[in-house]
Amino acid sequence: MSPTGHLAIGFAVKKWDAKVPLVWYLAGATVIDLIYMGLSFLGLEGFGNNPWSHSLLMAFVWSALATTIVWLVTKHVKSAWLMGFVVFSHWILDFIVWDNLPLAFAKNPVLGLGFYNFIGFDLNALTLNFASILATGLELTLLVVGIVVYFSARKQAHSNQNSPVSGSYHTSKGTQS
Ligand SMILES: [Zn+2]
Repeated sequence: MSPTGHLAIGFAVKKWDAKVPLVWYLAGATVIDLIYMGLSFLGLEGFGNNPWSHSLLMAFVWSALATTIVWLVTKHVKSAWLMGFVVFSHWILDFIVWDNLPLAFAKNPVLGLGFYNFIGFDLNALTLNFASILATGLELTLLVVGIVVYFSARKQAHSNQNSPVSGSYHTSKGTQS
């Protein structure tokens, strides 16, 4: 899955946590791809050879690391667990759409349900066809759903803040003429 789809999880999860800025969760959702891009840039990983970024083993490691970092910075257990979940959600989504995720550092076995292969979407031969439109549409839909969840939660939090006694306004105003 491209970062587009992964960002949806970052947006949606923010609903459950007011402590950590949204951008942290967006970074968490895409960090495995960011690591992949960095390593590819250095020539250490490439398509079909990405054990450091995308193996199941390293996905656990990155998630644990993210959980630890967020806990150390915020001392907020819920945020830490949520961040761990967000980072690991990347692997789960990739597991659904790809079929070549390494278990660890050996070439085999590779894991994945291969939904994109099933519909005939080939990342190596990007052309405008039904499969690429379907895959892109799917990821954009996911992103929109994530953003809608995010904004609906924000709206709710906002109205919760305003609905009970709006006392501060009146007291600060003092007597009204
Ligand atoms: Zn990925």
